[in-house]
This record gives sequence, C-alpha cells and structure tokens, in this order.
Amino acid sequence: MHHSTVSPLPSDFTPEQLLGALSVGIDTMAGIGDLRTRLTGLGIGMIGPLDHANGLVRDAHGLRHWHDVPLRELAEKHLGLPVHLDKDVTAGITAEAWRHGATFGDAALIMVESGIGGGFWLGGTAHRGAHTNAGEFGHTVVDLTGPLCVCGRHGCLEIVHRHAAEAGDIALAARVLAVGVVNLLQTLDLAHVVLAGADLLRHPQTYLAAVTEAVQADARRADWLSTRVAVSSLGADVIAAGAAMQVLDQHYGIPELAPI
Ligand SMILES: [Zn+2]
Repeated sequence: MHHSTVSPLPSDFTPEQLLGALSVGIDTMAGIGDLRTRLTGLGIGMIGPLDHANGLVRDAHGLRHWHDVPLRELAEKHLGLPVHLDKDVTAGITAEAWRHGATFGDAALIMVESGIGGGFWLGGTAHRGAHTNAGEFGHTVVDLTGPLCVCGRHGCLEIVHRHAAEAGDIALAARVLAVGVVNLLQTLDLAHVVLAGADLLRHPQTYLAAVTEAVQADARRADWLSTRVAVSSLGADVIAAGAAMQVLDQHYGIPELAPI
C-alpha cells in the first residue's frame, strides 16, 4: 500500500457521514504529489447485505440508516470518480487473489469482526451469487438448539461464536469457527483459507491453530487433498487494499504473478 489515511466513523454511521469521510480522505491523500489527477476510481468494501450489480446497500448488518441506499451512485456524484461497490469480504478475497496471482483458484477469506462473513474466489474469479449476496457464512447453523441469532434462526455460527468469545473462551470460539470452515471445505473443496478481521487478529495464533487442526483432523482429507490455512498478511488493511485492487481489476485484470 502506497498511502493510507484513517477516519473513524460512529458505530451507527449514516450515508452522509461515510461520504463526508471519503471526501476528506481523498483530499488528504490528494495532497501527496499530483495524486488527484491520476486517480482511476474509488473502491468501497461495505458491510452487506448489498446488491453489487445495482450498487445498492440493502440492509447493512447493525446499521439503522442503510436501507436500499444507492451508495455507488451517491458516491460517484459526491466524489466525481468512478466507484466500485462490493461486499467487504469480496473486496478482501480480491486482495488475497492479487497477492497470490493466477494460481489462486478456489479460496475463501473468513472475516471475524462485528459479525462473521466469507468472501469466495471460485474458479479464478470472485463469487458473488445469484443476488450478489454470497458470503453470509456467519448465518449458517452449527447448533440446532443454539441461541437465537439476529437473523431470526437458532444456533448460527456467528451467535454461537459470539457467546464463546464474550464468555472469554477464545479457544472455544476458535473451534466453533473451525467447524464452520470445515463445513465450507466439504462443500466447496477449497485450496486456500485466509483468516482475517479485527476480532480474529486479536488472537491470530489461537484461530490459526484451531482451524488448521480441524482442517487436518475433521475433514478427513486424503493425501491428494490439501488446503492451506493462513492469517492474511495484509492485517487490518485487507478490505481497503482489496477495494482498491477491484478498481484496478476492472481496468487491467488480475496480474499473472508467481505464487507466493
Ligand atoms: Zn444468523
């Protein structure tokens, strides 16, 4: 990453507050050389659910002011730049794909922050699904009689994980996440699993160990099946970096890099 600037937002931020922060951020960085004249566009990795195809934020989890907000159009008008809007996790997996190059065929980015999401890179491209709503990984059920989740179901991965984490049992929280990851591997046959997100990055080794052990032990993989598990080396920047790479991706495609 060449330059960065951070603008904290209130926990229940409005569209106007986000646009204002983006404008300030661009002006701050535009002061570096002649950056403003060379900007190709703006990438936004946003909390879902959202409609990527139409640039609409549907009902972002935990945000009261975001119902069918046409964020892409609003941002293009407000900032005077082409805007690429995508789910945060899809931006994140794009960042990982760029780092790995053309060999990054089938992979998932598991994001543990305010919720749990999954970004998918399948067959060499971002997978968004029929309604561009793929990635609601935290709302897959792991306990039929588990606690009630915000989505209305019982025993979702996200709420079971949260109960363990809030009780201070990070080892159990990591094992709950690992169960979900193994379910994904059984379903999708992934070559790479990348772990990310602020809550996970507070205990990266605990999560990495739990997921790696579960992948090796529970998935009962034959020796011709292997999945690499890693913590994202981009840290807290993975979404911002991925959103920027999505803008470049539209213009240039994924670089043909050697695997790392
Ligand atoms: Zn749920």
